[in-house]
Amino acid sequence: MMIDSSQRAILRSLWFNGALSRSELHDLTGMTPNAVGNEISQLQQLGLVKELDPKPSTGGRPQIPLILDPSSRRILGISIEPGQVEIAELGLNGDLTVSPISKAVKAESRLLPTATRLARSYCVRRTLMAAASIPGLIDHVTGKILLSSSAPHQRQLSTSVLLKSLDDVPLIIGNDLHAAAGRWAVTHRSQLQEDTLLIAFDDGRIGAVMVINGRPNHGCIMGANELGHTRFPVKAPMCYCGQSGCMERIFSSEFLGTGVAPVDFTKRVETADAEDSKIMEMVDLLIMSCSNAVNFVRPSRLVLASRFMGSHSFAQRLTVGIRQSVLPHLAERVQIDAWGIKVAGSAETAAWLGLASLLFESWEGYPSTAASSSQNSPVM
Ligand SMILES: [Zn+2]
Repeated sequence: MMIDSSQRAILRSLWFNGALSRSELHDLTGMTPNAVGNEISQLQQLGLVKELDPKPSTGGRPQIPLILDPSSRRILGISIEPGQVEIAELGLNGDLTVSPISKAVKAESRLLPTATRLARSYCVRRTLMAAASIPGLIDHVTGKILLSSSAPHQRQLSTSVLLKSLDDVPLIIGNDLHAAAGRWAVTHRSQLQEDTLLIAFDDGRIGAVMVINGRPNHGCIMGANELGHTRFPVKAPMCYCGQSGCMERIFSSEFLGTGVAPVDFTKRVETADAEDSKIMEMVDLLIMSCSNAVNFVRPSRLVLASRFMGSHSFAQRLTVGIRQSVLPHLAERVQIDAWGIKVAGSAETAAWLGLASLLFESWEGYPSTAASSSQNSPVM
């Protein structure tokens, strides 16, 4: 299946505007009425677009509204996380059609085989495409996983087994933060033209991605991509990268001491009690990391994405702290947003990466095997 740029423009218009008639699509995209008609027919055949009942006529020809078909095709999302694989399915309207199903995986060598087995069992006729996310560094030409907290002892892990298991269904593989950026871009149209630094964090994980002109930056633009491995001279658990003092090991239940359960960690972070010195140390270091990243990349907008941002006291402490710590001229201009959901590391977010690649040109896409497919755009 090939989606060309004209079809993508139509899909994007329908996603961001809701129901539109053919003539409205002609106005919005600048395509000729004939071209709109042809592209719509093809998109209908692919099950991506459908017609609604005609609007009551006001004298001229009745206008038939078109929408993205919410039910005939689905996007499969797969997240490959430390100790766990998750799968979910998303309709083209962004609603979950299969709630996330997780499978615990003890041995890291079993992660990809488990992901492959799950993907194969959920990949059915209605599956338009699949998108997988994994934390760490992925070679965007070969699709090899170069370094990941999900499989810290394996290097150059090939994902071709996953690709092959899905037969003709296109698969893209992306870093978990790029998937989060995809979800953000598809749901925040008005901010797409702003340079945005998105930082996502949870217990034991921190990552960042720069979104420039609505696209994630693949390279290692100063400071942002490896935010989790920003190091501080404090005693912290050893990081899988082989170093100690990494920020993603500091922002973790382990950092608080042995025997601190994740549930206690959540409570203490959300409470953000100034008397809790260990939490304050952790939050101060997180503020320092985020502020440095803002200073390095000078974004127009900083999005702090975490379930913890749903807690008013924690979100307040973090955003006020960052604003006080960044360079004064940046403090005045950077917009700081809280996105209070668990974004990174979920199968739902992986599926949103698929949706982003359907709506935007060359968004993401690591066609896993085939040195022959060396383009950045998804093979569709
Ligand atoms: Zn590290």
